[in-house]
Amino acid sequence: MELPNLIIIGRSLIGKVAEVALTASSGQPILIIVGKTSYSIYGRSVSETIANKTSIEVHQVESDISQELEIIRKILSKNKFGAIVGIGGGKVIDVSKASAHEAGIRLVSVPTIASHDGIASPMVSMVDSGQPYSRMASMPFAIVADVDVIEKAPHRYLASGCGDLVAKYTAVKDWKLSHKITGEYFGDYSASLAYMSAEIIFRNAKKIGKRRHDSIRTVVEALISAGVAMGIAGSSRPCSGSEHLISHALGRLIEDPPLHGERCGVSTVLMALLHKAAWRRVKSALSSIGAPSDLSELGVDEQTFVKAVVMAPDIRPDRYTILHKLRPTESDVRRMLKEAELG
Ligand SMILES: [Zn+2]
Repeated sequence: MELPNLIIIGRSLIGKVAEVALTASSGQPILIIVGKTSYSIYGRSVSETIANKTSIEVHQVESDISQELEIIRKILSKNKFGAIVGIGGGKVIDVSKASAHEAGIRLVSVPTIASHDGIASPMVSMVDSGQPYSRMASMPFAIVADVDVIEKAPHRYLASGCGDLVAKYTAVKDWKLSHKITGEYFGDYSASLAYMSAEIIFRNAKKIGKRRHDSIRTVVEALISAGVAMGIAGSSRPCSGSEHLISHALGRLIEDPPLHGERCGVSTVLMALLHKAAWRRVKSALSSIGAPSDLSELGVDEQTFVKAVVMAPDIRPDRYTILHKLRPTESDVRRMLKEAELG
């Protein structure tokens, strides 16, 4: 099991980020990795606060992940750093996670949006010759989530984070199914933790849709718990099932796809139907939250979505799900889309 040493969720945490960064680096210089927008708003204040106490270098992420990793490798080979502080959205956190893992130094993850569960997971989303895939890295040493900053981001990101969370509903069902059919190990504890993070979104959907302060914090906590569930399981299994395979397939088929969590949310409705589970509950939660809850809201045409569902099981033949068991054909998927009121 790999777990974060420290998780802080709260408000006005700039001073706290600096404090945690200094602990993580044991007094050695710190590499701060930021995104373009996060640097102008939040990263600058954090960097200045840390710079008052120790030497820092700031790197701004501008290109794709593999190019960024090359650049950061060079920075890391020239100077000795005690820790990396990644401040930004998904790509910044992924680049920071992969770099810290490679260099064997600690990472302080400071998410500025809550759009998916990568905030606190040991996984990194990569792209290889246009094909997205995820690989294991290390769990962040610390996660500092400043709700003041996350709250300022457009609602679409938070709604996407909720889509990634309701996905745990079918991900856990897929894992259980695989355990029954293939004998794969099933971790009851990590599965329960992941399942709980979907359940909490179902229960709070209306409040999240109204953007109640406490509900934003709840989403952040659930995303971190999902990441921790992956750390306990030692893989993304509790958090990623058939719905994620469809989301990955859509990522391959569409050049500028909807957000990861948006794709996962809509796919979860369909996979819940396939599992003969409470798909209406998933759909109505997404709709209350203000996340896409059908194909037109997702902005994906039916033909592309059908193709994605059919190709999904081949994306990871080793990860057994309901799609591997039933292998629906194009016409099956069309019928299911109608039944789930998605098309
Ligand atoms: Zn996900």
